[in-house]
Amino acid sequence: MADKWVYLFEEVDEAEKSVGGDWEGVRSLLGGKGANLAEMTRIGVPVPPGFTVTTQACNAYLEAGEQFPEGMWEQELAAMKRVEEQTGKKFGDAKNPLLVSCRSGAKFSMPGMMDTVLNIGLNDETAKGMVELTDDERFVYDAYRRLVQMFGSVVLGISDEAFEDVLDELKEERGITSDTDLTADDWKELTVTFQKIVREHKGFDFPQDPYEQLKLATEAVFKSWFGKRAVDYRNAAKIAHDLGTGVNIVTMVFGNMGWESGTGVAFTRDPATGENVLYGDYLLNAQGEDVVAGIRNTKKIDELGADLPEAYAQFVDICGKLEQHYREMQDVEFTIENGKLWMLQTRDGKRTAKAAIKIAVDMADEGLISREEAVLRVKSSDVDTLLHPQFDMDAKGQAAAEGKRLAKGVNASPGAAVGVVAFDADLAEEWGKGGKDVIMVRPFTKPDDVHGMLAAKGILTSEGGATSHAAVVARQFGVPCVVGASDVSINLERRQMTANGVVVKEGEWLSIDGTSGEAFVGQIPTVEPKFEEETDLITLLSWADEFRRLQVWANADYPDDAARARGFGAQGIGLCRTEHMFFEEERLPIVQRMILAETEDGRDKALAELLPFQRGDFEGIFKAMDGLPVIIRLIDPPLHEFLPNERDVLEDVIEKRVKGETQGLAEQEELLEAIESMHESNPMMGMRGVRLSIIMPGIVKMQVRAIFEAACNMANQGVAVKPEIMIPLTGHVNELKVIQPQLVKIAKDVMAEKGVEVEYKFGTMIEIPRACVTADEVASVAEFFSFGTNDLTQMTFGYSRDDAEARFLLTYVEDGILPQNPFQTIDRNGVGSLMKMAVEKGRATRSDLEVGICGEHGGDPDSIEFCHLINQNYVSCSPFRVPVARLAAAHAAIKHK
Ligand code: ADP
Ligand code: MG
Ligand code: MG
Repeated sequence: MADKWVYLFEEVDEAEKSVGGDWEGVRSLLGGKGANLAEMTRIGVPVPPGFTVTTQACNAYLEAGEQFPEGMWEQELAAMKRVEEQTGKKFGDAKNPLLVSCRSGAKFSMPGMMDTVLNIGLNDETAKGMVELTDDERFVYDAYRRLVQMFGSVVLGISDEAFEDVLDELKEERGITSDTDLTADDWKELTVTFQKIVREHKGFDFPQDPYEQLKLATEAVFKSWFGKRAVDYRNAAKIAHDLGTGVNIVTMVFGNMGWESGTGVAFTRDPATGENVLYGDYLLNAQGEDVVAGIRNTKKIDELGADLPEAYAQFVDICGKLEQHYREMQDVEFTIENGKLWMLQTRDGKRTAKAAIKIAVDMADEGLISREEAVLRVKSSDVDTLLHPQFDMDAKGQAAAEGKRLAKGVNASPGAAVGVVAFDADLAEEWGKGGKDVIMVRPFTKPDDVHGMLAAKGILTSEGGATSHAAVVARQFGVPCVVGASDVSINLERRQMTANGVVVKEGEWLSIDGTSGEAFVGQIPTVEPKFEEETDLITLLSWADEFRRLQVWANADYPDDAARARGFGAQGIGLCRTEHMFFEEERLPIVQRMILAETEDGRDKALAELLPFQRGDFEGIFKAMDGLPVIIRLIDPPLHEFLPNERDVLEDVIEKRVKGETQGLAEQEELLEAIESMHESNPMMGMRGVRLSIIMPGIVKMQVRAIFEAACNMANQGVAVKPEIMIPLTGHVNELKVIQPQLVKIAKDVMAEKGVEVEYKFGTMIEIPRACVTADEVASVAEFFSFGTNDLTQMTFGYSRDDAEARFLLTYVEDGILPQNPFQTIDRNGVGSLMKMAVEKGRATRSDLEVGICGEHGGDPDSIEFCHLINQNYVSCSPFRVPVARLAAAHAAIKHK
């Protein structure tokens, strides 16, 4: 049998069979739009008759150097015959012409990426026939000029402005602002002018043959697959380039046939909040893109109930049916022609992070989906976005009071963004890539602007509504966005905008609130959102907790960090860095005295002074984590980090010598000498971590004493403490054999002194490849492992992170030398293999070895999945990432059941 390139909407069963019965396969074959038009037809939703040319045909066409594959065109012609039978009209017939639209549609929806041509089939002859049929010359010539215009721009590549300028001129001439005020003769005249424009630009006439129109339009859709903006979008959205697009040929229905007709777009739930209400806009007596383009002021969807009650009731019914069928929030397009409702598209609706979470939770509660599906439907990035900073309410109020509020528009995509204004996408991208925070400001956005929108921290437009291009793209990528701020007047030539009497020039600061829809001049401080108020998220995460196997702990150095982490659901502290405590103002001088002490006695004295500070810190953390484990890392950095900068001291000494100042000179010289004596050519690999503890055990002995004094004190107050003492940077088991028994002895002494026993562990941080490779030996002493994946990555790659990120890592990632930044996502093959080996070898020695991760990777979803796969007990991340990690751990567990 010859290849089948064309499927009528009613042939969805056949399409399904050809791909083995799998709906994803149907979507791959027909594209999302085509598959859903066919599916709606199957379940009895009114869709105008039509057919889909497959994505395979598109790929075949492009591969063959822009040649239709054999049999395709014949099949398209046959399908047209079938549509003629279904509609009782004839393509190209002067008496009763069939008109169709030609629409692109890839597997994944790419809003506005590839263009649609409406009214194909109109020519000078059929237009006359249509006039007789409809008795509405104005309508017909409006449709005809639209065809010439769309065909001219989309298919023939003439710039849209060539047509729009003429239209604007005519309106100006007539002294009118709205298209609806143009007469039949105006449209007729424009149709002729537009045809002339085609001739001028292309050197040939607008094709009168409807089949020629169909053929060229089909080809144009195929070719648009590799159009620049489509390629850019796919790169940004990580969509494969070899999927191809389907071509959908759909019988035209007209929303511009009078006031019993209309067109609209709607979401079955509110895409901003997730609330279970219809959300959308429509226009009576309008066609196609009029609603999205924001040319006329649209009406809210519920007003349709008053305008056209019957069609509205049917529409509400269909929306419910579609949600039940797809078990997902839908984004639909519809047209009403003389009171008769037609559905032109449905797809899973894009939504904000907040809405994604609410919809998932609601649908599970409604019984439409399972809790597992609800958990899977919310992306880790949604949780991240939701917990992003918002503006400080007081600061915002104050800014408003000071007259800094420029405008209020539509709150299209939530979140607060602060940045400098850039008035075009290229500049936004340039500045954004250069590390500037940018707010991109445009009258409206187009698909060509996507690269700038992605590089911007926020987007502001003066035109368009909640379903405009800017709004849709911003929501998808989680960029805060305000659209339709009509009080803002943008002067692109002078590179400035004016609103509320304030002029903002390019490069000046702007703050936009995508949650409320406001824009302010200047920088407004932001605050973290309140987790406890996000009830849907809390519910969803409680479901996620039932699925995940990995525990989620947090890295926290201070009691309030620990308490916050616990509020986010942390089940332990995976890393408490003690050295942060050394840097506090009143403590640093003591620390320095300790380091510089010349005698054992002097050092012990300083350490004794530090002990109560440390003990106090630990008491707070143990209290906050009552009942949960707390891993405290003993001192890790090289000592010189606690001393003043060598150059500063040197400069001071030189200055004093030059000026002949003797006051304090001797001390500074002594300090300089001490610093110089500690100089290491590569401190990262020098005397730090366990090495420092072995050479200078006084510090860690003090720390362990402080930890156990704190633990015992708290235990005596009824707090359940579980200290775990972590020795950093072990490379050889003998290091642990030297230091750990000394520390265990102190622990026991303190507990004896305090007359209380607490549960405790001694373990090590695994951050040196040798420790991974000899993990069986290390585990003979260490009772737990915690991967310090930052150092482990540095040591495994032989990169110093700061140098790598500043110099070559970006290039490596951009050029694909590395698939991703290994400091953000665990390099599974290299670093990951070492980790896996460490877990296996460690557990071979000590079967109940507790294993976790405390590097930044502990908050990265992909790395969390890996930690799940190698059977770690927990991941530990920054407190703010705990909710993200809880969800990511559940995703990993469900995915790898
Ligand atoms: P996009 O993917 O950009 O939304 P569409 O193919 O959905 O492009 O079409 C663009 C506009 O034209 C939409 O408003 C759609 O509803 C309208 N449209 C497409 N086909 C028809 C048709 N056969 N009759 C009436 N309107 C149509
Ligand atoms: Mg559409
Ligand atoms: Mg380290």
